[in-house]
Amino acid sequence: MSRRSTRRPTSRCKRCGLPIRWNQLASGEWIALMESPDPDGRYRIVRQQGGVIAEKVEDPYRIELLVRDEHLFLPHSEVCTSKPGGGVPCPDHLREALGLKPRGEGK
Ligand SMILES: [Zn+2]
Repeated sequence: MSRRSTRRPTSRCKRCGLPIRWNQLASGEWIALMESPDPDGRYRIVRQQGGVIAEKVEDPYRIELLVRDEHLFLPHSEVCTSKPGGGVPCPDHLREALGLKPRGEGK
């Protein structure tokens, strides 16, 4: 049984055009996740009283969720086919939230 009460229109990445979904993290930051669940995903969507938030899950809990058929989502920035730097720059605090290195580091 699936109920979609608040189905938002699909967003698309301005850089590569792939469908994405914007979700808020518990910290209040926004993250662009892939529209479709992915077995490699590291974020799950959690329902709260105020709506839904994205929550990062780590191994081995991540595997447990997969076994339970929970939908996990990849951050779009990890699969964006467009090279970073050409469009809107990804802020460092967002990169940190995604587990990526800050810009300009490790060159
Ligand atoms: Zn993209």
